[in-house]
Amino acid sequence: MTGYDSPVLCKGCGQQIIWATTVGKKRPIPLDHPQVSDVKELEDHRGLFVFVDLNMTRVRTATPMDVAWGDAPLFRTHFVTCPKAALFKGEPE
Ligand SMILES: [Zn+2]
Repeated sequence: MTGYDSPVLCKGCGQQIIWATTVGKKRPIPLDHPQVSDVKELEDHRGLFVFVDLNMTRVRTATPMDVAWGDAPLFRTHFVTCPKAALFKGEPE
């Protein structure tokens, strides 16, 4: 199961994550759940994505404009935030 409505727990750290698929290479990618808060205050812009479909299953990389405007919810990939990222295999269950 993937998408915003199907959060799961990271097997590495126990944080709630959601699996999405990138639009370009159609790779599965884990995202922190919930979305990034305080986008205007954001200093770390690594690994930010925005959903492109209404079902919220597919994402593209966030642009500087996405970050500056803060209109679309931004999600940070769990690859960046997981303390056990090295163990990550990058595959959804
Ligand atoms: Zn984790």
